[in-house]
Amino acid sequence: MSTAIIGNGFWGSAVARRLREQGEHVTIYADPEVRGASWAAAGICKLAWYKQETVRGMMDGTFDYDQFHEGFEWLSERVAIDPAPETFVNAPRGTSKVHTDTYLGDPLTVILPPDRPERVIEIIPSPTAVMVRTATGDALYDSVVVAAGAETDNVLGGLGFTDVKPLLGRAILFDAPEPEIAATGCVTIMTRPYAHFTFRRFRGRWRGGDTVERGGKMDRIAEVTRLAASYFPGAREIEVYGGNRPVCPKMFVRRVHPRVVAATGGHRVGFGLSGAVALRVESLLP
Ligand SMILES: Cc1cc2nc3c(=O)[nH]c(=O)nc-3n(C[C@H](O)[C@H](O)[C@H](O)COP(=O)(O)OP(=O)(O)OC[C@H]3O[C@@H](n4cnc5c(N)ncnc54)[C@H](O)[C@@H]3O)c2cc1C
Repeated sequence: MSTAIIGNGFWGSAVARRLREQGEHVTIYADPEVRGASWAAAGICKLAWYKQETVRGMMDGTFDYDQFHEGFEWLSERVAIDPAPETFVNAPRGTSKVHTDTYLGDPLTVILPPDRPERVIEIIPSPTAVMVRTATGDALYDSVVVAAGAETDNVLGGLGFTDVKPLLGRAILFDAPEPEIAATGCVTIMTRPYAHFTFRRFRGRWRGGDTVERGGKMDRIAEVTRLAASYFPGAREIEVYGGNRPVCPKMFVRRVHPRVVAATGGHRVGFGLSGAVALRVESLLP
């Protein structure tokens, strides 16, 4: 069986890993111009985030909660999801406590390199195969998985709609001296309910990202920078990573044609869900 996977974010990469392990021939396509959410993600995989309210609320009846645990276990044996303590600071009061069930990975080690770094223009299924069209030509596959994040509906074209919407999120890379507060691992600063920022070590520097961002407004970036300066004295901004979170009313992992599966809608917890998505996609392919 040959399968084309469109998108090499957390979801497309997890599906590719899973299928390759089963001996399938997989070709990953990714548009080099579209930096998806996975490149900007904080990479937090805190199991507490994935309990009933979050995961069940995102599921659409085609998943059950056990699949989430099974997928999480499978993924954590394959990629760098490490236990790391996290200090929670309740700003501005400054009280803090340490949680130990946080798992951090470098998102960039999870993302697989594309075999074809090209934009997919359209996919044309037939009863016997699916054609994938790019600017350099057409190729035929037995099946196709569309995991193009917030772009999924554009790639599906006439095949259907997942109703995914983009929600801009950003992370900032800081050069900062080791702050006292971070002795235990990463630091999450709670500014108010549903507004928290996480700073973690990233390639010798500190990376700060907001985990809930409404509307992608620039003033949120200013807030992260201000916080970094107060908790990490001497912090210097190096780079801002932007990415569109794929947001669906319910996560979408379904067959849209006998040979085409679409998978998107991880919203703000897409990393931890990707293992379960891989198992689910595998079960949906012909
Ligand atoms: C700032 C920020 C922080 C976050 N922090 C966390 C976190 O700590 N923990 C967590 O679990 N989640 C977090 N998330 C959410 C998480 O990043 C997303 O849920 C997840 O990355 C979605 O993965 P995906 O594979 O579905 O899509 P994406 O990562 O968006 O990947 C889409 C892929 O599709 C490709 N593509 C698009 N169009 C085409 C085309 N026409 N042809 C070919 N390829 C195409 C792109 O090139 C890309 O490879 C965060 C998100 C942001 C923005």
